Amino acid sequence: MMYKRTIWMSILALGLVSRANADDQPMWKAGLAKAVITPKVPMWLAGYGGRDRPSEGTLHDIWIKALSLEDAKGHRVVLLTSDLCGMPKWMYDSICASLKKSDGLERDQIRITNSHNHCAPAVRGDLEDYYPLDDVQRKRVYDYSDWLEREIIRTIRASLGNMRAATVSSGEGVCTFAVNRRNNKEADIPEMLKRGETPKGPVDHSVPILVVRDTKDELLAIVFGYACHNTVLSFYQWCGDYAGFAQIALEKKYPGAMAMFVDGCGGDQNPLPRRTVEMAEKYGNQLAAGVTKVVDQKMQSLAPKLRTAFEFVDLPFEKNPTRLELNVHLKDGSPVRVRWAKRMLKQLDDGVPFAKSHPYAVQAWDFDGQLWIALGGEVLVDYAHRYRKEYGAKTWVTSYSADLTAYIPSERNWREGGYEVGYLHEYMLPADRWTRDVEDRISASVSRVVAKLKP
Ligand SMILES: [Zn+2]
Repeated sequence: MMYKRTIWMSILALGLVSRANADDQPMWKAGLAKAVITPKVPMWLAGYGGRDRPSEGTLHDIWIKALSLEDAKGHRVVLLTSDLCGMPKWMYDSICASLKKSDGLERDQIRITNSHNHCAPAVRGDLEDYYPLDDVQRKRVYDYSDWLEREIIRTIRASLGNMRAATVSSGEGVCTFAVNRRNNKEADIPEMLKRGETPKGPVDHSVPILVVRDTKDELLAIVFGYACHNTVLSFYQWCGDYAGFAQIALEKKYPGAMAMFVDGCGGDQNPLPRRTVEMAEKYGNQLAAGVTKVVDQKMQSLAPKLRTAFEFVDLPFEKNPTRLELNVHLKDGSPVRVRWAKRMLKQLDDGVPFAKSHPYAVQAWDFDGQLWIALGGEVLVDYAHRYRKEYGAKTWVTSYSADLTAYIPSERNWREGGYEVGYLHEYMLPADRWTRDVEDRISASVSRVVAKLKP
């Protein structure tokens, strides 16, 4: 009897111990929030210089989505993804300052990314010389921008305020519709694909995936990336382009989960062929299928260990424009050039010197060994391949993070020249090109930031 009781008590004690272990097991905490940001009035759409009128309705809503994560030691990050074309530097700085004041978050803990969607509203100070805005449209764009900033801060803070225990896991899928637009003529692509040929030039068809589940293993969030412009559509309706359709498809397949798209190094990648809603939906479904394939399998579980680092690196401009050059542009330039030249000349008249460089945002997160680099601007695909070579095949490189900056060519691209190399003025910057060492400078910064992640 005594013996039996001892065994029974031992079993009970063991049970208690194992349950205590389960309870004590360190876990992530995750918080989520999202908001619709579809404008309620006709407004100018972002991303193309050729549009001649404001929006004409909504295909589907566009969103901002926030995911806050906290590791076992209480270190927090927040990821905000959006269906916006890009974020101006003033808004990125202002959001970071606000979150530092309200929640003590530093820039290494805040990651704001945009899908570079060209069916999103124009925002003040972002590619603004692209758009022939009249006074009514300008006021709408500026009012919307101020509202958007407040809404982003509100959404991030809502995610920080509803943290619960969670697990995090990672995986990687494949999706193949992105085509290198520097190495192929868009008009040739349909025939090439029909002949079964692979378009030329480097691409990044990987789909990085981060999944967050609650303690009952229910999906809370699916973060997924792809390196390709959201430029299937160039019409006049609000929608999220292929990334919007991919998020809709995933949220339909996994009810209750929040799907969040992050853009990769797709500065030179286009979804081709393109220009119909059917194609945008088809590519979205293809991408969602690539994600589903991974999410439905066993994924790599990540322990609640998070390290973060950030720096601004100065990227010098090759040269500022002279008054003489600006006056020539004023006479002979495209409408975008003329608006830019007027802006630059006014700055000279006001006695405000041109900046010689741009502070470029470089950030890295390490989730229990999963390295995730995030870069500002429209980074071209060479960078993703370079950093996977340098930091391991599992490395993720997200672009279109922080402010939209401009295109970020590799040295190879810079030597080749072309659209993504010589058009910094389109981003309202006082120059046409970065200096030739732009890749060296960014890569040295990435190496410093990644080194800071080592325990
Ligand atoms: Zn672009």
